[in-house]
Parts: sequence; structure tokens; C-alpha cells
Amino acid sequence: MSVIKKLAVLTSGGDAPGMNAAIRAVVRAAIFRGIEVVGIRRGYQGMIEHDFLPLQSKDVSNIIQRGGTILCTARSKDFKTVEGRRKAFRNLEKEKIDACVVIGGDGSFNGAAVFSEEHDIPFVGIPGTIDNDLFGTDYTIGYDTALNTIVEAVDRIRDTASSHERLFFIEVMGRGAGFLALHSGIATGAEAILLPEVDNDEEHLHQYLINQGNKKSNIILVAEGNNVGGAQAIADRCKKELKDYDIRVNVLGHIQRGGSPSAFDRFLASRLGVASVEALIDNQRSIMVGFVNHDIVHVPFNKTIHSSKNLNHILLDVADILAH
Ligand code: ADP
Repeated sequence: MSVIKKLAVLTSGGDAPGMNAAIRAVVRAAIFRGIEVVGIRRGYQGMIEHDFLPLQSKDVSNIIQRGGTILCTARSKDFKTVEGRRKAFRNLEKEKIDACVVIGGDGSFNGAAVFSEEHDIPFVGIPGTIDNDLFGTDYTIGYDTALNTIVEAVDRIRDTASSHERLFFIEVMGRGAGFLALHSGIATGAEAILLPEVDNDEEHLHQYLINQGNKKSNIILVAEGNNVGGAQAIADRCKKELKDYDIRVNVLGHIQRGGSPSAFDRFLASRLGVASVEALIDNQRSIMVGFVNHDIVHVPFNKTIHSSKNLNHILLDVADILAH
């Protein structure tokens, strides 16, 4: 039997499809190992405000396919203060909680690392963010679903773009990370992709569009955090130079966060959820469970927080070769 008798699970930071599948996996893996489970609502803010609910196996029935998070999520300013974290710890003590699983991004892991340095409670993190920008895991929960949502949306826009011979700038999410833009750009045959990780040369883009002759239907994917401004700003500048083009802008926005998780995200969330409970039973703490080469890995919080995950630059060449 594990020394952990009671475990808390929370979702924190930005929501991502597949978080519910991860909650379900944590709850059922813990119960399977004889551990009681409590859900904390609204992330760290709920930990401070004692917004807890006991979770049984049946409470996580019928959620594997649901987007969002049944526990709700939040960004908590109070948790960034010593006093806020002290309150949160007192609540965990009151509930006799021995360990926590936090499902979120690097901000949430940073919070967990700070908290468990101040207070003696083990934390394991599960990577949940549509951006896929966490070091130490090939994939994060929610990324595959968001990617598929983008591809479906861009395909639809492509139909109208080619019918009207229009040039569309489509902005996708990815706080400073171009994984969604690059992969969806390749998957939709985008004519150009503007990413935060590369020095985007707008002059080069203009020249490319000027030189391409009769081809008037184009899709340019723009990652929201790129260095030349958002899709609207780039489109406004292009309109001045490229008078022959009928230019439109589409910011995909929050549709990228919602929806039923893909099969891959459900699978990933299920594996990581079980792995998080097993890691805690094995006395691991302050680590993220990740997925590398289709296998589970354990990555110290400090490593995932302080390292950045790089784009595969070969994919930039692939996108470029196939766009011509
Ligand atoms: P994500 O987990 O999606 O990256 P955020 O960056 O918003 O989302 O982080 C989620 C929450 O984690 C924050 O609202 C805050 O409560 C907590 N957090 C982030 N950084 C710290 C920190 N340095 N100290 C304490 N708590 C933090």
C-alpha cells in the first residue's frame, strides 16, 4: 500500500480539450490503488478558497469525450503571494491531502514548484495546453485536438478563398510558440507560415506573392505571437503593397480551445493520468509526466520550466518546398 492515502487533482491555467480525460484517469488510477481522491475546483484559487469536492469513480463517468474541464480552471494572483500559498496549504492539511496532481502548463508547474519548496507536499504535473510548448514531452494534452480544429477551419476557409480568389491571413493560437501554426500550415498546404521562432521577413513574403503570377487564392497562417504583429497588422501592410489581391483576415480565436478531444488526446490523457498516480506512489515529486517516443518520461519541474522546446526546423523546409 502507498503511504499516500488521499490525493487532490486540479486543472490550472488555460483550458485544453482532454483535461477531463486526464481527471478521469487520475481519479480511477488512484482509486484502483486504494487512494481517496478530492477534486479542487478553479485551480490554485480554489485551493486557497477551499473549493474542494470528493471524487468517486462514478463522478468521472461520461467525461472522457467532453472538452473543457469539469473542475473549472483559473489564473490565481493570490497563489503568487506567500500568504495565498500558506492559506492553500492550510486547506490541504485540513483535508488531510498527502499529494497533488496538477494538470496545466508551465505557469501551473512553476506555481507547484514554488509551493512544494515552501510546504512539504509532493506535486506531479500533467502537461495540458493546446500550445504544445512544454519542454520534455513530445505532446501536451489538447494540442492534437486544437490542430485538427484548425485544419478543419482552414479547409473551409480555403473553399471560399479559392472560389473568390482571395488571400486570407489566418491567425492561430500559440503564445509565442509556432507548433500549431507550423503543423497546421503543412497539413493545410498553406502558402506561407509566419512563426514566432523565426525572423519573419515580410519583404520576402511580399515578393513571393508578387511573383506568383495568376495564383490569387492563398492561405497565410500567422501564429499569434510572431514578431511582425498579428494577422490584421500584417494584412493591413500587405494591402498597401499588393493592390491586386483581395485580402481577408480571420482570427480563429477560442474555437481552438473547445470541442471534444481527439482520440489521440484521450489516449495521451489516459496514459499520463495513470502515470502521474504511479509516480506519486513511487515517491516522485516536483516532476512532470511526459510522453517521448511513445513512452512515459519523468521530467523535473525545474527542467521543463527553464528550458524551451524548439521547433523542428526541417519542418520549415518541408513547408517551404511544398508551398511552391
Ligand atoms: P499555464 O499553466 O497555462 O501556463 P499560467 O501561466 O496562467 O497558466 O499559470 C497558472 C497559475 O499558476 C497562475 O495563475 C498562478 O496562480 C500560478 N503560478 C504561475 N507562476 C507562479 C509563480 N511563479 N509562483 C506562484 N504561482 C504561480
